[in-house]
Amino acid sequence: MPVSINIIMNTGLYIHIPFCRTKCRYCGFYSECIDNYNSKKVIDAILVEMQRRKSTGTVGTIYIGGGSPSCLTEDDLLQLANEAVKQYPSIEEFTIEANPGQVDSLLLTELQSAGVTRLSIGAQSFNKNELEILGRAHDVNCISRAVDEARQAGFENISLDLIFAIPGSDLSSYEQNLDCAIELDVQHISSYALTYEKNTPFIKALIEGRIEPVDEEIDRAMYEMTIDTLTKAGFEQYEISNFAKRGFECKHNLNYWSNDQYIGIGPGASSYLNHVRSHNIADIDKYTQAIANNEIIIADSETLTDIERACETAILNLRRISGINLPQFKVQTRYDAEQLFAEPIEKYIAASLLAKRDDHIFLTRTALPIADSVLCDFAGV
Ligand code: SF4
Repeated sequence: MPVSINIIMNTGLYIHIPFCRTKCRYCGFYSECIDNYNSKKVIDAILVEMQRRKSTGTVGTIYIGGGSPSCLTEDDLLQLANEAVKQYPSIEEFTIEANPGQVDSLLLTELQSAGVTRLSIGAQSFNKNELEILGRAHDVNCISRAVDEARQAGFENISLDLIFAIPGSDLSSYEQNLDCAIELDVQHISSYALTYEKNTPFIKALIEGRIEPVDEEIDRAMYEMTIDTLTKAGFEQYEISNFAKRGFECKHNLNYWSNDQYIGIGPGASSYLNHVRSHNIADIDKYTQAIANNEIIIADSETLTDIERACETAILNLRRISGINLPQFKVQTRYDAEQLFAEPIEKYIAASLLAKRDDHIFLTRTALPIADSVLCDFAGV
């Protein structure tokens, strides 16, 4: 039986910018071409939603993502950043995602002065051909320029995103990408394997045989290479795909992996508050119209049962290298993880895919490349 203890949860604020300049060929996120919309009107609607949801929880981190926040006008992005800081003055971390090629020194200086503390740059690859295959709008030189300009603007917490297993890539080309990212001396690197999302030009090209996916063994070797290379370069792996210099782990994303609360603002954004998961209307016109008419902007919502919440918490916690903190899990979910997940825990400890140490249950290094196959056993107990 669950024990009864109440805790105060951290809350993250996520602002979704549903625009991009052009659509990358692999991207399955909800975003529209900014040229087809009055983006000022949408930002005004987002500001209204932020104001409406002001009193919900104690916000510790803010993350403006998308889409491409950096494709907004300087005025719109600054207004958003200023309003967010005004509303939540005591935040610990404020991240903005930026595309290389869409930022300049002036904008970065103003964002830094406005209170943005962390810049997440979507590099993806340092290889010209790979950027073209992905349909990225920037060239290789833009990446180092963006990092240099961010540093000059005063950012001391810069993250780079990479993608591996891009069609046509091999271990040697990926190693060069990792080396280029390390060379830029940033504080944080995320690297994800390319996935073929539905309704994207990439999946169509795959089905039609116009592109060949990277062999599974090579994909796995690239992941192993990510861990080895970044660890050797002084990064600590703190999540399956995330690496940071000590003290530079992304607090906002750690909040997700703790299964703490978050408020999602903007078209298509998701929220998780008071055990309810919900999604805003994923249609820019309908969203702005609903805001203007003071109507409900939630498209769907679901209240999680105690057991569903415990399962989700376990799966998210296991993504962290530190895994499930057993006493914390009990306080948060009111379940004893070792009792609730006795079967998968026993099975995977016997197979050396899970380990237990100091009140933590975590994925072993052997399990990391096949994490999803372990985590799915925690989905329904
Ligand atoms: S910039 Fe990001 S969100 Fe926009 S299309 Fe490319 S991957 Fe998707």
